[in-house]
Amino acid sequence: MNILIMGAAGSGKGTMAHLIVQKYSIPHISTGNMFRAHMYGNTPLGLEARKYIDEGRLVPDDVTIRMIQERLLEPDCLKGYLLDGYPRTLVQAEAFEDIAAQIDRPVQAVINLKVQLDDLAERVTGRRVCEKCGSIFHIKAQPPKVSGVCDVCGGELVHRSDDTVQQLAVRLKEHVTMTQPVLDFYSKKGLVFDINASRPIDDVFHDIDKVLGQL
Ligand SMILES: [Zn+2]
Repeated sequence: MNILIMGAAGSGKGTMAHLIVQKYSIPHISTGNMFRAHMYGNTPLGLEARKYIDEGRLVPDDVTIRMIQERLLEPDCLKGYLLDGYPRTLVQAEAFEDIAAQIDRPVQAVINLKVQLDDLAERVTGRRVCEKCGSIFHIKAQPPKVSGVCDVCGGELVHRSDDTVQQLAVRLKEHVTMTQPVLDFYSKKGLVFDINASRPIDDVFHDIDKVLGQL
């Protein structure tokens, strides 16, 4: 099962990736983690990537694609992979297409988690965090028994989000603009599955599971 997962910050992508990995026993491969693993391990590719990262530059596509190719040939990928954070551009998507074909692991589905700004905004602005124990509540989705008081420890609940709705709007727009060419690329192949991610976790995963079950 060879899958890509895409979704803006706040779409619950991490949670869904975790659930997919648990159910289907495939590795969750994120480019961020892959870079870090190579750099900590001082591998030849890691040393090469570090040169760019230390200078504050983007790691070039050819370095990234070689890391991904290596990673997908590891034994835990025999049953497939869940790739997260890649490809980000049309050029990367085309390069990955070649690599995936070479190693006989073509993409079978692109899970596209879609969120509306209104829903994201409500999630963020309604979040309340306990000052004492860090428990998280939501004034609508998961309200505490007593308003403003933590169910767990009785501490005070505060609204401690750095995110403003305006920042969210900018980030979401950037995400959509950036990912559209990649989505178009896979849409033409009939591989994109849009999932409404503005719903409870169980419902979102249920829909993803239905798509994956048919692969
Ligand atoms: Zn508490």
